[in-house]
Amino acid sequence: MTTKSKIWLSSPHMGHNEEHYVKEAFDTNWVAPLGPNVTLFEEAITKYVGGNVHVAALSAGTAAIHLALKMLNVSHGDEVICQSFTFSASANPIMYLGATPIFVDSERDTWNISPELLKEAIEDRMAKGKKPKAIVGVHLYGMPYKIDEIKAVADEYGIPIVEDSAEALGSKYKGVQCSSFGDIGILSFNGNKIITTSGGGALVSKKEEYKKKAIFLATQARDDAPHYQHSNVGFNYRMSNVLAGIGRGQMEVLDERVASRRANYEFYVNKLGKLEGVEFVKEPEGFYSNRWLTCILTDSFQVRENIRLRLQEENIESRPLWKPMHLQPIFEKYPNYSDGTSLDLFERGLCLPSGSNLTTEDLERITTTIIKELTND
Ligand SMILES: *Cc1c(COP(=O)(O)O)cnc(C)c1O
Repeated sequence: MTTKSKIWLSSPHMGHNEEHYVKEAFDTNWVAPLGPNVTLFEEAITKYVGGNVHVAALSAGTAAIHLALKMLNVSHGDEVICQSFTFSASANPIMYLGATPIFVDSERDTWNISPELLKEAIEDRMAKGKKPKAIVGVHLYGMPYKIDEIKAVADEYGIPIVEDSAEALGSKYKGVQCSSFGDIGILSFNGNKIITTSGGGALVSKKEEYKKKAIFLATQARDDAPHYQHSNVGFNYRMSNVLAGIGRGQMEVLDERVASRRANYEFYVNKLGKLEGVEFVKEPEGFYSNRWLTCILTDSFQVRENIRLRLQEENIESRPLWKPMHLQPIFEKYPNYSDGTSLDLFERGLCLPSGSNLTTEDLERITTTIIKELTND
């Protein structure tokens, strides 16, 4: 039998003009971590996100979180609250700064940081003597966290929010684009995200001062002097003008990419939604997810594994949901405020192939395989 063609979880999907903008960088010799593509890519994101945000294009989403926490004055010995149910890149920058991560579990409606547990965590940390310096909230798989509720808790204690929108470009809450809600928002353009520059990220903020400071820090923190003078520790985190060319092309097709991913979700719901023991996370009123990845919840760890392995046999990539940070070997010794929600989601949940370049044939092949597994065919 011939091997079946590989179906990836989420692979890059180029539009029409990416190569043209990259060639422009070569033709004009702007092969550097600055240049017209960087400026125009930033302008395209600014326009898309709207709400008068300011955008700094950076080398990665992780770099953006690092700079965001740094600009919020997180330093050695501080505590930073982080959604536990996320990818490790949300939490790693807390460690870079010598701070302590405090993990908070998710609620069931959006799978994101629970307002109740957040409040409990803040009060307990304060009772123990330290007020957390920042909160990292995450719009996991593109579903916005409960923005109003989380912001209300953060405001009550005067703690700034870093809004990790790495998976949520194009997602909206009450009609407003994600990444514009936090004190600082961050985006990622890694290879598997909704759009990609192969690798890259951005820092987003309503405050222009944060954009300026981020660019200053991202370009080695050089003071205003004719010679190289430094009064701050700097980073080399700016985006390349070559890669920003890819980003410009990708921004032109972003709305199409969101539409395709949402259509994937609809396809899966139509085919699998009525099966016993398959659940999807629905959009609560006012929430709009880019459906970066479509995830299913099965009845048990074993069923989830059976489906994953059956898909693998068919050369189809799927992936368990993120393993919560408070259960990771590197982070388990830090305080956590959990009620078992993210552990349960991790055990029973599976991310299905969700690329915007999947064909109807691909989707048929995936759903047929899952149905066979679930009906013991
Ligand atoms: C991808 C991702 C990041 C990191 O972005 P990079 O551009 O890969 O550094 C951060 N947080 C979440 C939730 C992510 O999915």
